[in-house]
Amino acid sequence: MSGSALRRGGAGTTEGLTVLDAGFIRSWIRIAAEGVGAARDHLTQLDAAIGDADHGVNMDRGMQAALAALEGQPDEEAPPGRLLELVGNAIVLKVGGAAGPLYGTAFRSGAEALGDAPVFSGEALLAALRAGLEGIQRLGAAVEGDKTIVDAWLPAVEAFERELRSGGDAVAAAARAAVAAEEGARETIPMEARKGRASYLGPRSIGHQDPGATSTAILFEALARAARSTLA
Ligand SMILES: [Mg+2]
Repeated sequence: MSGSALRRGGAGTTEGLTVLDAGFIRSWIRIAAEGVGAARDHLTQLDAAIGDADHGVNMDRGMQAALAALEGQPDEEAPPGRLLELVGNAIVLKVGGAAGPLYGTAFRSGAEALGDAPVFSGEALLAALRAGLEGIQRLGAAVEGDKTIVDAWLPAVEAFERELRSGGDAVAAAARAAVAAEEGARETIPMEARKGRASYLGPRSIGHQDPGATSTAILFEALARAARSTLA
């Protein structure tokens, strides 16, 4: 991999290993913010059915704040982990409800996992995504099947890992993770909510897709697109 590839594309490969950098994180968050913005009304409609109808607006505001935070941070002062920390901080500040602390914790936990390294591997990205999941579960105490973010994030991490273990690169792993997150979000439809505001509805929460799992699927779709565009 050449240095120019790193600067231009935000990622590359060297000695057969995937190398990701700050440009990849910036690309991920930019694409995620676009995706959340495009889905804003849909997310709000989902939240209207089983929550308080603010998830789309909240997430859109949070991702725009995250983008602004990254744009205010020069590359030379911002290793990938620092960028994720800024994203987490912006989300905590700007996203209301349960989603702010949960997603904020996810990104901050991912940031801790990446540390100060200027570049990172697909394996390190897996560790960051898993740290994010653990942060969400530590804070929200949700398990699979509770009709939450976890129902998309957990299968996404598992799919990412399966792909790496079977020899796939970060592009393939992120693509698998995106599909798994999307499936996981859809699989929340028949679930009865056991965590969060939707759980107050009991059986009436059945038949609606969870808004948090849906926004998680958008984040993983963005991850896959960022990986494809910076590594392919
Ligand atoms: Mg809400």
